[in-house]
Amino acid sequence: MNHIINSSYLLNHARKFGYAVPAFNIHNLETIQVVLTIAKELESPVILAGTPGTYSYAGVQQIIAIVESMAAENNQQVVVHLDHHHDFDDIHNKIRAGIRSAMIDGSAMPLKENIAITRKVTELCHYYGCSVEAEIGQLVGQEDDLIIDDVADPYTHPEDARLLVEQTNIDSLAVAIGSAHGLYKSTPKLDYERLQKIAKLVDIPLVLHGASGIPDSDVKKCIELGISKVNVATDLKLSFAETLKSFFLEKPGSTDPREYNQLAKAAMADVVRHKIMTCGSAGRIYSFK
Ligand SMILES: [Zn+2]
Repeated sequence: MNHIINSSYLLNHARKFGYAVPAFNIHNLETIQVVLTIAKELESPVILAGTPGTYSYAGVQQIIAIVESMAAENNQQVVVHLDHHHDFDDIHNKIRAGIRSAMIDGSAMPLKENIAITRKVTELCHYYGCSVEAEIGQLVGQEDDLIIDDVADPYTHPEDARLLVEQTNIDSLAVAIGSAHGLYKSTPKLDYERLQKIAKLVDIPLVLHGASGIPDSDVKKCIELGISKVNVATDLKLSFAETLKSFFLEKPGSTDPREYNQLAKAAMADVVRHKIMTCGSAGRIYSFK
């Protein structure tokens, strides 16, 4: 696993120099190929993320093998990340398989329990040189089997964020400032003031989930105010699915996956290129050398 790294160095570098590392949720061979190819083309650091559902669908060893072989061919160092994982043993098994970046999502728990599980997972992860992201506050919407409809107070409280970071030794923190998972019904209103407060109290990189559908200017503002990792899932799924839908409307008789997947890959490549430019991460791998 020479080309799969943890995310600490990348995120701290991004925080120091005022850009963000994009994290793309991948699902299959095609999404991995597109993200790694465009990241290489634009010389951008990149994180490939998968929810528990994605790893069950595509296979942990299989995802790692595809990423490792492609990164070796491209001469890239790549992060493969566990997005929204909850289970200690599941995280442990995936680290043993070669993953070096994990999110422990205890955000649905009361603060004390969130701190306890996050601390336990962080100790495990650091033993293996795996970096850890935790979450505080809750993002409404749906990401795989994680569905959050109605939360009385979904936002991250800055003081809680400070406590969680102080008591757990995590490497990055996902914050809830008004973004959501899945499709937005209207443009979200982000709480910049809250983000600023958290960034002042917390001395580690911050993570924005649910960035699909947030206007570029708003994402850029979040990066200015302390976001160092921007998660993109829905926009990739949409471009993939929409391309296939229009293809089959036009050519219902087609059966060759190489034909329609090629088009879907081109559409996803545009999304990846656009997100990398928005994050300001293009060309950044040069500054690591
Ligand atoms: Zn998320």
